[in-house]
Amino acid sequence: MADKDELESVCKRRGFVWPSSEIYGGEAGFYDYGHLGARIRDNWEHIWKDFFLDMDNYHMIYTPNILPYRVLKASGHVDQFSDVLVRCKKCGNSHRGDHVLEDITGESAEWMDKDEMASCMAEKGIRCPDCGGELDQPMDFNMMFGVDIGPTGERKGFLRPETAQGTYMNFHREFIALRRKLPMGLATIGSAFRNEISPRQGVYRLREFRQAELQIFFNPQSDDFDEHYESVKDRILPVLRANSEGIREMTMEEMDDLPKFYRYHMVRMYQFFADVMEIPRDKLRLRELSPEERAFYNRIHFDVEVDMESLGGWKELAGLHYRGDYDLTQHQKASGQKMSVSVEGGERIVPHVLELSFGEDRNIWALMDVGYRTGERDWISIPYPMAPYQAAVFPLVRKDGLLEKSRKVYEDLKRDMNAFWDKSGSIGKRYARQDEIGTPFCITVDYDTMEDDTVTLREISSTEQIRVPLSDLKQELRGYVKREKRFGTA
Ligand code: ATP
Repeated sequence: MADKDELESVCKRRGFVWPSSEIYGGEAGFYDYGHLGARIRDNWEHIWKDFFLDMDNYHMIYTPNILPYRVLKASGHVDQFSDVLVRCKKCGNSHRGDHVLEDITGESAEWMDKDEMASCMAEKGIRCPDCGGELDQPMDFNMMFGVDIGPTGERKGFLRPETAQGTYMNFHREFIALRRKLPMGLATIGSAFRNEISPRQGVYRLREFRQAELQIFFNPQSDDFDEHYESVKDRILPVLRANSEGIREMTMEEMDDLPKFYRYHMVRMYQFFADVMEIPRDKLRLRELSPEERAFYNRIHFDVEVDMESLGGWKELAGLHYRGDYDLTQHQKASGQKMSVSVEGGERIVPHVLELSFGEDRNIWALMDVGYRTGERDWISIPYPMAPYQAAVFPLVRKDGLLEKSRKVYEDLKRDMNAFWDKSGSIGKRYARQDEIGTPFCITVDYDTMEDDTVTLREISSTEQIRVPLSDLKQELRGYVKREKRFGTA
């Protein structure tokens, strides 16, 4: 467990993540991923794809970061993608109005428009959180970064504020290419850009961040997900319903006001966080947003939230958005291109969209927050397949052929997994270095190895050590990394 400053300094020192453009003093809202952070990010993306694309007719696509003005006009972002900004008349600092209110009242103010915020602030006599000065009238601030396209600067565009719009525009083309079947899932992973008013809380609120989003296009009249739902209907999830107090453990059957396709995907989202990211159950909840809190086009919206000590409590990591036919209809109207399709029975419909939206940086921070341990030894518990390295190999000493033997073991292992070779310092120090970066397994080549071809294998969480024949090493490790096998069992 760590506070934010401590965890940030650990992340910096060890090579995970730190503020960008640091040598020039930095720029709020931009972060770099170092050599370890980059590995976690690659692993996270890979595992996310494996998990969510494990359905027939689900695929990845990639689309550009820059979108023309007319795309984001049609989607509603030009007119509505704004936060309420308040500026201090004395020090000139800008703040997000809802954050200023939330910090003082402890209640969510995200749903308020600028007029409601103005009267609430006046009523409570709220002043600048930085200098105590008088605040100016709240105003709408559009969060998109504008760009000029082409040499004349006449064509306007924006850096995309979410990855989803590129996917919606490709719906019809992919529907035809994929032989006209619903449901169809199109996922993408890439950068999104939001000119956040006051980026704070490290990688939690960035101006450039990565999203992993899956758009599922389906016919709302069909029973396409009913069978999947049946297989999860007895699952119990920690849920905070809108306008209700406290988290409740609820079965899917108890939430029968929600459609089955939605409930099935609530379980999928939960499984990813609980089983794959290994977030403990008491730190995980699905929070429903009320109609006032959610975007007007979202018919149902739950966020997955994780209780993060370094960020002071429950924080959103992902959202499950039932967007109906809003997006495809908007693009159909504005572009004049057909988005409707024929479904069974010959009827024509504009498919509905269920969006699973993940912020990658927040997910990676959650791994660090939940996994960081101090005490007798400092170590990070990262799910084994997501760790920067799955194994590290050491020679006990650098003489008598041990160095060469360990190098051979390492060369062989790295064809199968991310492995690291460390030949310097005492064995204790080398274990400590790997503990600090979350490497689950350490392999030591010693004098017995030269006799009987066995090595010492040590696991990070228990620090237990076992002896393993080199001929079995890869297979054993594979089983332990995937948690198909408990460490030390035959
Ligand atoms: P918030 O309420 O925190 O501003 P949001 O509800 O606007 O986030 P969405 O538009 O639903 O976020 O975006 C989907 C996901 O993208 C979020 O769940 C979050 O994980 C991530 N995300 C959104 N904004 C940021 C940001 N500024 N920095 C990092 N990740 C972000």
